[in-house]
Amino acid sequence: MTSVGADRTADVVVVGAGAAGLAAATFAAARSRRVLLLEKKPQPGLKILISGGGRCNVTTTRSGSDLEQQYGMVRGRFLRHALRAFPPVAVREWFLSLGVPLQEEDLEKLFPVSQKARDVLEALLRGARNAGAELITDCSVTEVRRSAAGFALTTNQGAIHASALVLATGGRSYTKTGTTGDGYRFCTELGHTVTATFAALAPLVVDAAWLRELQGIVVTTAEIAVLESSGKVIRTRRRPILFTHHGLSGPAPMDLAGDIEERNGAFLRLDFAPDVAREELDQQWLNMARTLGRKRAEALLPRELPERLRVALCELALVRDVTLAELTKDQRARLLTAVKDLRVRCDRSRGFEHAEVTRGGVSLDEISASTMASKLVPNLFCCGELLDLDGPIGGFNFQSAFATGRLAGMSS
Ligand SMILES: Cc1cc2nc3c(=O)[nH]c(=O)nc-3n(C[C@H](O)[C@H](O)[C@H](O)COP(=O)(O)OP(=O)(O)OC[C@H]3O[C@@H](n4cnc5c(N)ncnc54)[C@H](O)[C@@H]3O)c2cc1C
Repeated sequence: MTSVGADRTADVVVVGAGAAGLAAATFAAARSRRVLLLEKKPQPGLKILISGGGRCNVTTTRSGSDLEQQYGMVRGRFLRHALRAFPPVAVREWFLSLGVPLQEEDLEKLFPVSQKARDVLEALLRGARNAGAELITDCSVTEVRRSAAGFALTTNQGAIHASALVLATGGRSYTKTGTTGDGYRFCTELGHTVTATFAALAPLVVDAAWLRELQGIVVTTAEIAVLESSGKVIRTRRRPILFTHHGLSGPAPMDLAGDIEERNGAFLRLDFAPDVAREELDQQWLNMARTLGRKRAEALLPRELPERLRVALCELALVRDVTLAELTKDQRARLLTAVKDLRVRCDRSRGFEHAEVTRGGVSLDEISASTMASKLVPNLFCCGELLDLDGPIGGFNFQSAFATGRLAGMSS
């Protein structure tokens, strides 16, 4: 790593040494471009280091249109070119060529065999260095202007001039890792539209005393959905749900945070018996009530649910001390609703400080999907989370950062 010193000039300057910036710098340098990669923090790739609980979920095994759909219809269509040109299988080969084999784990996630995010970061740094890119850390870009030669950048280490500029400054969540939204300002000043930004992949705040009392419980068999005010389902997730003292966390609730933030709050629907239709469950309960009359209502609830949760559901349905022989049709209906259609209001997530990604960013309408070039400013490229792109938990965010970063590097 070097420092800037006097005015510096490069063919390509990449701002931000995260996943997207490292990919962009590597692929630009591999084309024999003189590349400077600028990082404001003393260390590059801090998000890579903390990702996946320190293990880095690098990508996914999903592919083709199934992969694209994970990002939603509009964003998935924009990403089609980048993802088909650099799909997860190619990312896996790339890491193998950099000395880091990946292996598949639950939910189609790919992690380094070594289980160390540091190995992922070191491989990316090695790849960029071997390709010929020069990394400058502690170098914060404060201003970006167009110039006769391309771009003039003001940094805390002096001026830098570039023929082509790749912005890979990430979003505005987890600001400790250097992502304070600087790229949004640079892009706006250069004439781009930046859509509203929201915290996504964040724990949810639920203001319900009964739910907070369940903190520490994990449910792996439930389904959670976020609903429109009309009751229409926006998104459904069947992944682990963790009850916390703030509300709900874990992969399924976190995947819904962006939808809730975008709507300024929404209702969640919890289904603790998602494999059985309501009518079928009702019939099963009727049969059980005939043979288990002396047992309490709690005996009807799925055994795989933690006991504290079963008790809470019975309390919500006001059948806590009712025996099966006494259980009326109305009481059974209330318990069915608590188990299959429990609605809780969620007004917000825990916000940007706890969000793994930012939803919103540089408008995709103004970026070429095949090169990541700006349609408004010649020789400007944007990639990674700075763009209006986000995916669910599962390696999708690194995958889009690598794929868009690579295209920016190959085109700049
Ligand atoms: C706790 C956590 C866990 C995660 N786990 C996973 C996971 O396992 N799998 C997955 O796919 N995704 C995960 N993500 C999301 C993933 O980390 C991001 O989507 C991804 O890092 C985005 O890459 P990027 O290169 O676009 O931006 P970033 O990685 O955020 O990099 C942007 C870089 O730009 C630098 N920068 C910003 N402004 C300037 C400036 N003015 N001058 C110079 N440098 C600047 C920043 O310091 C930063 O290093 C996780 C995120 C978090 C917070």
